[in-house]
Amino acid sequence: MATLTVDPRVSGATAEFVSSRHLMYIDGRFVHAASGKTFPVYNPATGDVITHVPEAEEEDVNRAVLAARRAFDDGQWVRMAPSARGRLLWKLADLIEQNNDEFAELESLDNGKPFSVARVADAPLTVDMFRYMAGWATKISGSTLPLSAGYDFHSYTLREPIGVVAQIIPWNFPLLMAAWKLAPALACGCTVVLKLAEQTPLSGLRLAQLIDEAGFPPGVVNVLTGYGEGAGAPLAAHDLVDKVAFTGSTEVGKLIVKAAAGNLKKVTLELGGKSPAIVFPDARIDQAIAGTASAIFFNHGQCCCAGSRLYVHEKVFDQVVEGVSHVAEEIKLAPGLDPACQMGPLVSDEQYQKVIGYIESGISEGAKITAGGPVSGFERGYFVRPTVLTNTNPGMKVVQEEIFGPVVCAVPFSDEDVDRIVKRANDTVYGLAASVWTQNLSLAHKVARSLRAGTVWVNCHNVFDASLPFGGYKQSGWGREMGEEVLHNYTEIKAVTVAL
Ligand code: NAP
Ligand code: MG
Repeated sequence: MATLTVDPRVSGATAEFVSSRHLMYIDGRFVHAASGKTFPVYNPATGDVITHVPEAEEEDVNRAVLAARRAFDDGQWVRMAPSARGRLLWKLADLIEQNNDEFAELESLDNGKPFSVARVADAPLTVDMFRYMAGWATKISGSTLPLSAGYDFHSYTLREPIGVVAQIIPWNFPLLMAAWKLAPALACGCTVVLKLAEQTPLSGLRLAQLIDEAGFPPGVVNVLTGYGEGAGAPLAAHDLVDKVAFTGSTEVGKLIVKAAAGNLKKVTLELGGKSPAIVFPDARIDQAIAGTASAIFFNHGQCCCAGSRLYVHEKVFDQVVEGVSHVAEEIKLAPGLDPACQMGPLVSDEQYQKVIGYIESGISEGAKITAGGPVSGFERGYFVRPTVLTNTNPGMKVVQEEIFGPVVCAVPFSDEDVDRIVKRANDTVYGLAASVWTQNLSLAHKVARSLRAGTVWVNCHNVFDASLPFGGYKQSGWGREMGEEVLHNYTEIKAVTVAL
């Protein structure tokens, strides 16, 4: 194996971790893949190989699932005092916080995102998520219920952990997605096998070290690196898994549902989106320009809830498009670890090709470019300039399909009839999120109610909090992440009735 050099801009701790030998975490031990196989991890800013990680296959999946099954069935974890489970989650949060900047460096190196953003968003939001769920560990309860059947019964419900959970996550927020999955499952008393995304395994492997250090019992958390087909598919299909929680493409989400059918395991899905941002003429225009630009360009548009369809009232259309295009042109593209970086490369060559393909398809179907375009000017790395398209029509691929890159379609609307613009906004198979930009309170609430989406933001976009349920209507998914709602996705409810 050739000697690999780590980007000299990272700290000594990160360089040491990246150059160490990477192992998966199964049953409380750090292990190689049973086959001994590994696969490369790339730096998207250069296309260079950073390191190699184990390639889990069916045998490794079996080992991890058996460990999680044993750790669930032996009752130690389930019967642990909820306060003790909460303390473990809190301790893990403290450990992540102590390593905040190292995690941000890993995310930047592996995913391409700006270090300056990862250290104030990805890492701290991860800490918040573990702390928020640590608080829930002691508050997961059932209720007592009066029966119409008669007074001589005592009935109550118990909210119990669902069991062994398979969790499969994507590459856009590698650490944070791990937290969204692990924290509620562990708070509820489930045991977990987590498969990281092939493109971005590093922060999850570092997290596994901290999970071990925090002192979770062996087998409660297992972390695998591997490909979707080789590791994700057997995990989703495994008979000893009680539930699969998936975040990623709608296409793979449908495969997960099929794979889960064998033992009818429970399924939750957090899938794609084509989220509208709707700007009404009375909006504070500066705020709407900055906000809708950030809605699409944050994380290079690699957000399931990215505001990728920008509907602007014709009275302010030119002004808003000019403003968003100006923001786009001013964004400084650079490797994520460059202190000047405001937008890094896309995560992989595959995503780069896909996003460029969409921009080109838009152009060939007649869209006009007001910022960005298919040429980045970079010789290396997967950089795509933030791009604004106008002159689109509702049938175009760029308007209908999730691009998952920094590309927005701006569309004017003239209707005074609010129902018509809502109808256009809802004209998608997705239903993840939307934002509304107006100063008219009544209009904002009215539109918020009518949008078929799991999240509606008013005069903001991409505001996340551990307390807010997040998930999709329609083909954007099943179930919710975060908030109290997610607890329902990791628990079963048991009704107990006693004849007195
Ligand atoms: P993806 O294929 O859906 O990957 C998501 C996760 O599922 C990864 O861990 C992946 O493994 C795994 N996976 C793939 N095939 C699987 C299978 N047959 N069974 C079980 N697990 C499987 O997403 P992607 O290829 O990374 O990105 C493609 C598109 O998905 C993007 O362009 C974007 O539109 C969408 N996406 C959405 C989100 C979101 O947050 N909703 C996030 C990322 C991507 P490996 O990748 O490790 O092989
Ligand atoms: Mg994939």
